Amino acid sequence: MQTVDWIVVGNGIAGAALSYELVKQQQSVLLIDAASSDSGTRYSYGGIAYWSGTDETTKALCQAGIERHRQLSDELGAETEFRELDLLLTIAPEHDLEQTAQQYAHYAIPPQLISAAEACDREPQLNRDAIAGAMLVKHGHVHPVKTVEAYNQAFRRLGGQHIVASVSGLVRVGEQVTGVITPTQAYAARQVAIAAGAYSRPLLAALGLQVPLYYTHAEIIETPPVELTLQSLIMPANSQRFELEAKVSQPEKAALWQTPNQVLAAPILDAGAIQFLDGSIRIGQISRVHTTLDPSLPAAESEAALRAAIAAQLPALAAVPGSWRHCRVTFSRDGLPLIGPVPGIEGLQLFSGFTSPFAMLMPVAERFARWAVGAADPLIETMLAARFFD
Ligand SMILES: Cc1cc2nc3c(=O)[nH]c(=O)nc-3n(C[C@H](O)[C@H](O)[C@H](O)COP(=O)(O)OP(=O)(O)OC[C@H]3O[C@@H](n4cnc5c(N)ncnc54)[C@H](O)[C@@H]3O)c2cc1C
Repeated sequence: MQTVDWIVVGNGIAGAALSYELVKQQQSVLLIDAASSDSGTRYSYGGIAYWSGTDETTKALCQAGIERHRQLSDELGAETEFRELDLLLTIAPEHDLEQTAQQYAHYAIPPQLISAAEACDREPQLNRDAIAGAMLVKHGHVHPVKTVEAYNQAFRRLGGQHIVASVSGLVRVGEQVTGVITPTQAYAARQVAIAAGAYSRPLLAALGLQVPLYYTHAEIIETPPVELTLQSLIMPANSQRFELEAKVSQPEKAALWQTPNQVLAAPILDAGAIQFLDGSIRIGQISRVHTTLDPSLPAAESEAALRAAIAAQLPALAAVPGSWRHCRVTFSRDGLPLIGPVPGIEGLQLFSGFTSPFAMLMPVAERFARWAVGAADPLIETMLAARFFD
């Protein structure tokens, strides 16, 4: 059996970027993906919050990230549909304008508070009466699936192998992982990188490893191309998703994550919408914390709630055709990804937990690949999975 330098498990945006960056470092790479229809990347808005760095590390990565996005289509030789557009973070009437603005003051490029009338000038579809104002900032945007495809094409052009198969287990010999198993075949590698989003957790749990990697179940509505036009990406200024992620990833919840069928928090709904260049729209998003990977979800009820929430702000979206979708979004306890060697097991690496990957993942993948072949990088070392292991 041929032994490659790296097997990368998972072809969401994390695995796609990592596998490409590794072949660029002259590594032989096999990318294996189950082609799940419910990856976080598949239903992502694709927004690039390059303004949102808060410390030296995240500011540097956001800046490098947006510079990379600006030339990524050229580099990969395929369109990511990169553009810059307005992000309007709408403020509901029950929220205080100044207090909301204060929450954004610490970002590298702080969004600016604007009136409801100015927000409606920017986005004519907004309902003036439903908002008290908005925070405005320039945001980047790509088509998430096209960006994955662009990485994949460039990866294959550089000699990377890409197969569709579900990894059912890892090959462990003593304290070393030497490859992966699929239903039809085993594959050998010197390093196995797990970039399988929420599925990274059960893949590692099968080896008896509990990693501090968590997930929410996200529900959205996906529309076909529609006639109306949205100028901006709309999201709530007082978003509840990041607070939810912080709450359910506290160390005291760790035992509950190992127990199936646990609901760790009440669901939240952050009403938002983005239109892609083909005219289709994603309307989001309900986030639920359920420890089971495939819980039974109330699709009809969720769709009605999503439609009601977005119609209040963007009335034209009330009756657009569209279908309910479900996917999972992974995250870690401190907002940074979990990357690099899994302590105590040779040959096993993580590359997951990117809750908002489009801002920082591109430079992280590039620097990680260089670090993995021997280049020193203190920034990558702050994100190593080892920070959560004793
Ligand atoms: C509604 C919504 C809006 C979002 N908006 C934004 C946004 O604006 N900006 C932003 O940066 N982020 C956003 N996100 C988050 C984000 O885009 C995703 O969570 C992210 O793309 C995760 O990428 P990933 O590669 O880590 O995981 P995933 O995309 O989940 O990919 C995991 C991959 O692993 C594969 N896999 C799983 N198990 C196996 C197995 N056993 N064998 C082989 N392959 C396997 C799957 O097929 C899949 O392709 C949003 C998410 C949602 C749901």
